[in-house]
Amino acid sequence: MSKSSNFTLPNSTMRIVDKLLHVEKSLQSYGITESHIEASLLAATALGESRADLYANLYDEIPEKALLALDGFVERRLQREPLAYILQNREFYGLQLGVRHGVFIPRPETELLVDLAIQRIQNRPAQPTPAVVEVGTGCGAISIAIASNVSGVSLYATDISNVALSLAKTNADTHDVGEFVHLVKSDLLTCFIGTIDILIANLPYLESSRIPTLAPEIFLHEPIEALDGGLDGCRLINQLLSQASNLLASDATILLEMDPEQFTVIVEHAKTIWPTAEFTRHYDLSQTDRILEICLNS
Ligand code: GLN
Repeated sequence: MSKSSNFTLPNSTMRIVDKLLHVEKSLQSYGITESHIEASLLAATALGESRADLYANLYDEIPEKALLALDGFVERRLQREPLAYILQNREFYGLQLGVRHGVFIPRPETELLVDLAIQRIQNRPAQPTPAVVEVGTGCGAISIAIASNVSGVSLYATDISNVALSLAKTNADTHDVGEFVHLVKSDLLTCFIGTIDILIANLPYLESSRIPTLAPEIFLHEPIEALDGGLDGCRLINQLLSQASNLLASDATILLEMDPEQFTVIVEHAKTIWPTAEFTRHYDLSQTDRILEICLNS
């Protein structure tokens, strides 16, 4: 049996390559599937360098400070904290966006919503400039991606969370679109007056009963209020549509992200407000119904 000692050994030196393998194995043993790429991202961040530099310097000794930082990161990751929160950023639509605790991490499937929004904005006459509103912007991903790809567009992006709005502001400024993305604190559209031409939203749409079944990264670490859409997942989306009924232009377009099971309920609700509207489903990259487009007819 080993006896506890009251002196510490000098820290042995370690090469980056050895530490990297060690981290990869730890992640793997906790069931983290993308262990290789995650290990390299965590190590590069701990070293304050790019992954390319990390691989160029694999046989260097890892500095003590970076080693400590990396061990801290790995410990957090083993507690199933999402990688994006540890790295404090996430790529979305080719943009590196800051993310932080308390704010939903943008998902790849939402890039489809951005593609569609860009097309619909570009299909409208440039003058007068269309009034585009995104509800529930979180870290600003959708609005910033649109503003970065459509010159001259101006958007209103709302959220109920101050933490999200302040992060969205930083992200918009970082990507030089701060003057085009107007951030507004609002519970859905309650603060709005005027006419909206294009309404976009990725609101919380998971059924409440699904929340405890989500991956621990989501369930334990992401803000549940950004995911929970009530009993049938449709609560906020339907509330948004009811609020929008007085605010939309007669030829407005609405683009909403949701789960496939929700289309029927939401279409039924929307038909009670706009009986002559046209409804189109759009599929995401995994061929799942993901976006509902509602076109009002003038
Ligand atoms: N697609 C998200 C997820 O599965 C849910 C997003 C949302 O509720 N808006 O985690």
